[in-house]
Amino acid sequence: MDDLQQLVQKLQNTRHLEKEEWAALIRGRTDMLAEYVFSLARKERHQHYGHDIYIRGLIEFTNYCKNDCYYCGIRKSNAGVMRYRLGEEQILSCCSAGYALGFRTFVLQGGEDGWFTDERMIHIVGAIKSRFPDCALTLSIGERSKESYQALFQAGADRYLLRHETFNAAHYSLLHPSSLTAASRQKCLWTLKDIGYQVGAGFMVGAPGQTPEYLAEDLLFLEKLKPHMVGIGPFIPHHATPFAGEPAGTLEETLFLLGLIRLLLPKVLLPATTALGTIAPNGRELGILSGANVIMPNLSPANVRENYTLYDNKLCTGAEAAAGIQELKDRMCAIGYQIVTDRGDSRM
Ligand code: SAH
Repeated sequence: MDDLQQLVQKLQNTRHLEKEEWAALIRGRTDMLAEYVFSLARKERHQHYGHDIYIRGLIEFTNYCKNDCYYCGIRKSNAGVMRYRLGEEQILSCCSAGYALGFRTFVLQGGEDGWFTDERMIHIVGAIKSRFPDCALTLSIGERSKESYQALFQAGADRYLLRHETFNAAHYSLLHPSSLTAASRQKCLWTLKDIGYQVGAGFMVGAPGQTPEYLAEDLLFLEKLKPHMVGIGPFIPHHATPFAGEPAGTLEETLFLLGLIRLLLPKVLLPATTALGTIAPNGRELGILSGANVIMPNLSPANVRENYTLYDNKLCTGAEAAAGIQELKDRMCAIGYQIVTDRGDSRM
């Protein structure tokens, strides 16, 4: 057994590594080391969640955004985007369609759109929770005030996804304009957790300027925050952003990090993301085989889907769309897993 394999064992035994150890693992990745990580990660995952895969119906309800993140295709300065908002009735009909397909978690995701005031969001959250009382509702609508988060929780929202994007402040400011800071992003996550949400943090793999040391800091932050969910996927360039010419993150590094995160937080809810499915045709299957246990198919109405392009070539049809759930079920069955009709709450 070599030094890096020993580090992986240490991670599994203690759920902790020092920063230099994380960086060494990430820098020293080989196919053999990755296979070792995946086999341990699958064992953990099977112990806590068996071979079940939880699904979440993703409703991208607005692509208006007041922010200008350098990597994101729906950033404010991209004038080439056809902007749209879904109304409450449209959102509810996405949920109905999803419910019939077996979804018991809905995720409302959008840009930071001032039109969706607390009052409007509270109304939408209340309507969804009263129509679908056996479903969990996740929000992913960026940074808001503590009062706003509190009011939405009170209205019935159960979970909140807010990727921290990168822990390191200098790296954060390489990816975002100065109006956005790592500190404020992280503070939101602590606040959400405090209020009682199941929270999801996460980051892009292979984001411009990312180093093994920065990734090590991300993993140390996850250890500290102990989120219920962690969303990671490869960075994929969008042609109309400042990062148009940057290389995408790799499949191999993303899978490796999925496996490591499963070993760090054994009970975490870990999606094989759309971005992962976008960079490789079997990306989602490989994600599941690396330790992921969640998939988030798209429930947005077909006519708006192509306008929610965070990055180029984003998948939104076939097994990627909620309506393609049978194909997804078949594909997961083929690798020995089953999609279940369940809220899929965290076991933490
Ligand atoms: N406005 C919400 C939702 C953001 S979109 C929020 O602030 O949380 C969801 C995630 O997509 C982001 O957190 C980011 O990590 C990811 N994303 C954005 N642009 C991307 C790109 N070019 N490649 C890969 N992932 C991207």
